[in-house]
Amino acid sequence: MNGNMGKSSGPVVCDLCGQPAKVVGPFIEMAPRPPKTEVHLVCGQCLQLGLTVVQADQARSKTKPEALRVPCPQELVEHLDRYVIGQEAAKMTMAVAVVNHYKRLSALAEPTDGPFRDVELSKSNILMVGPTGCGKTLIADTLAKTLDVPFAVSDATSLTQAGYVGEDVESLLLRLIMAADGNVAAAERGIVYIDEIDKIAASRGNVSITRDVGGEGVQQALLKMLEGTVANVPQAGGRKHPEQQYIQINTSNILFICGGAFIGLDETIGRRIGKRQIGFGSEATAENAEQSKDDLLSQVTPHDLHEYGMIPEFIGRLPIVVTIRHLTEDQLVEILLKPRHALIRQYQKLFHMDGVDLQFTEGAIRAIARKAHKHGSGARGLRSVVEQIMIPINFRIAEIKPMGKFTIDEETIDADGKADIGKLIERVKATA
Ligand code: ADP
Repeated sequence: MNGNMGKSSGPVVCDLCGQPAKVVGPFIEMAPRPPKTEVHLVCGQCLQLGLTVVQADQARSKTKPEALRVPCPQELVEHLDRYVIGQEAAKMTMAVAVVNHYKRLSALAEPTDGPFRDVELSKSNILMVGPTGCGKTLIADTLAKTLDVPFAVSDATSLTQAGYVGEDVESLLLRLIMAADGNVAAAERGIVYIDEIDKIAASRGNVSITRDVGGEGVQQALLKMLEGTVANVPQAGGRKHPEQQYIQINTSNILFICGGAFIGLDETIGRRIGKRQIGFGSEATAENAEQSKDDLLSQVTPHDLHEYGMIPEFIGRLPIVVTIRHLTEDQLVEILLKPRHALIRQYQKLFHMDGVDLQFTEGAIRAIARKAHKHGSGARGLRSVVEQIMIPINFRIAEIKPMGKFTIDEETIDADGKADIGKLIERVKATA
């Protein structure tokens, strides 16, 4: 006799979630201890869920993670410099803000006597404003790695206010708990990066029909979490299993960093300060136009953000605003060559593993940067330009291998992926 027995018709279902085997896979029979006789059928998904709850509970009761060693802001910037090119002002502000955040945590953990014992340090989440592909996520990620705290990235566009189709805001926390390998105590002092925050701006005076009307609701839903609350995080990150267990996590010490491109915000600021932008006229280069947009953006105020569609309560919970600048062509050249994981270095390593010394002429590097710059997606454009040329060359590595050396020049990059690779191989072979 099992829990399904006596149910006259229909497929056999899991005794916990009620789903049929067709949906939730094979069942496990849970035999009772005599004198009970009823056998229960439980699906693998329910067992997995139970296991996760137990693991999260064990992780929670583990000894608290070790005290953090918080470096000074200068040290943090030195570390950032190894990975992030340019963005000097942003790196400095971020380093100070992050150090102060963790100092606040230390002050809470070990209150000291002294003249300032009654002074409470307030929580300061961060808003990063600036063009896409220019280092917002990279800075946040590098800071988290340097401090060795859990880090999770989420996209604001996937979030919805409660009751609508989409991810609940708590899914951000589930990602952080996963990044902390289920250790809730570690996650409670982690960093959450919420990208595309500008996409949840409320529509402004109903003029914009492109903006999601749910944006304001999502901002509302995020308020408590940003400030600090004990959140109940559903295990599966959704509302599909009403009977599921929750993980409790306190968000008071989690640092939230929100980032967005805020396209058009520079114009709002320009209007406010009565300054016109330099257009793309003949005398103004595209780079000049970008720099003038950046200069405007660096003067952003809470009022401008409100105009853009962020609600005042939301802006109030992100008191530190950091602006990110467009990357210049020279900086894109540096990004190709300098950082630890620079794209050119990665390809050189791959080719080296095949015994090929891969080189790019200065002209080739400049041409890649020039193309990516035109693309307008910051350093992200570099990868597509490099891959367009490198994938067909990499594909023919067996032919290149005996040459032991391969140089890529400007002409090859400028051929826009239409370079005749066979001819190129012949040419390099001839000059070798
Ligand atoms: P976003 O500003 O849109 O968050 P990301 O930080 O995700 O952009 O940048 C995308 C990728 O481009 C990074 O992973 C990194 O490889 C590269 N990148 C962007 N900005 C920089 C920078 N300032 N220095 C070095 N690499 C950068």
